[in-house]
Amino acid sequence: RYHRVLEENRKLYNQVQDLKGSIRVYCRVRPFLPGQAGRSSIVDHIDEGSIEIITLSKNGKEARKSFIFNKVFGPSATQEEVFLDTQPLIRSVLDGFNVCIFAYGQTGSGKTHTMTGPNELTEETQGVNFRALNDLFYLSEERKETFRYEVSVQMMEIYNEQVRDLLVSDGLNKKYPWHILSSQGLNVPDANLVPVTSTSDVIELMNAGQRNRAVSSTALNDRSSRSHSCLTVHVQGKDLTSGNTLRGCMHLVDLAGSERVNKSEVTGDRLKEALHINKSLSALGDVIASLAQKNAHVPYRNSKLTQLLQDSLGGQAKTLMFVHISPDPDAVLETLSTLKFAERVATVELGAAKSNTESGDVKELKEQISRLKAALARKD
Ligand code: ADP
Ligand code: MG
Repeated sequence: RYHRVLEENRKLYNQVQDLKGSIRVYCRVRPFLPGQAGRSSIVDHIDEGSIEIITLSKNGKEARKSFIFNKVFGPSATQEEVFLDTQPLIRSVLDGFNVCIFAYGQTGSGKTHTMTGPNELTEETQGVNFRALNDLFYLSEERKETFRYEVSVQMMEIYNEQVRDLLVSDGLNKKYPWHILSSQGLNVPDANLVPVTSTSDVIELMNAGQRNRAVSSTALNDRSSRSHSCLTVHVQGKDLTSGNTLRGCMHLVDLAGSERVNKSEVTGDRLKEALHINKSLSALGDVIASLAQKNAHVPYRNSKLTQLLQDSLGGQAKTLMFVHISPDPDAVLETLSTLKFAERVATVELGAAKSNTESGDVKELKEQISRLKAALARKD
């Protein structure tokens, strides 16, 4: 069944091929967690591409703010459904494109759920990482008469602006020098690069990576929300007829929690971490903004995160951001700030080469469409 779906998805793939160089933004709303039953969601899922956030002002008046994305997944969307809209990007890695898929959102909004899955992993609950690798192996097998592919992975963490290798047991204690875009197409050639031939190889490596991460940290969950983790998949394909070689690379990134930390409330290590996270996430926003404006200079060098992803953001690369939000009224301010960031990212797709005023117009029109759709939906 899975592979039949893959076949059906080829049409979608062709459409996505045409979108090269643009950034897609998918929004995923997580469900209330067990124990939170009975609360009312601040998210109104209008249609497959838009949501409204419901806020209450002091006098109890309801206000709504709408946001438009390439796709919106509501709280009941399954891992499979989410992946179906991601799948077309995977294939392009085998065609020699660079792809970057990253998960953004505050801690607890569902980033790890989307990228990896819940703690108890089953075939059904597996996240994008495993499904993506599974697809790569399936598709490369399918092409084996014409192409010979080799797949290898790196797994790294960026913590306090230091890159750590998760695939060696003492990797967290080593600092790696930076080689940006060396001839092998590796951003961090010194980090372990492990050849893999099956999804189970990858699962084993990811488990080992998680163990290495846990060893150096008393509270793994804590640490994982304050560092960026990146699974990088390198694909090298040899065209058996022409003898040419192509390279593709895919970064799968689970970003640090985007919540603003109140600087007056934290000190020491927490403050240092918060400042580093803040710096790298704003660097990511700046890179994306400058790609949107087609600036000659894109400030990749302002953070390790943007350096690592440099070859997979903008240009010929295909980028997908999953923006995660919680339905919880208590999180409404964070949610609005998350969505504002996401909106900024989404403008890259709206017409990069246009002047600011024009893209402002487009935004205005999109908002109008969304308001009209919402009004229609309420009439039904
Ligand atoms: P983050 O990585 O952003 O901090 P998690 O992925 O760890 O957040 O999610 C927080 C909690 O919510 C976890 O218990 C996770 O299993 C649950 N959760 C998140 N998204 C979903 C979802 N779409 N469906 C069901 N449970 C989810
Ligand atoms: Mg997480």
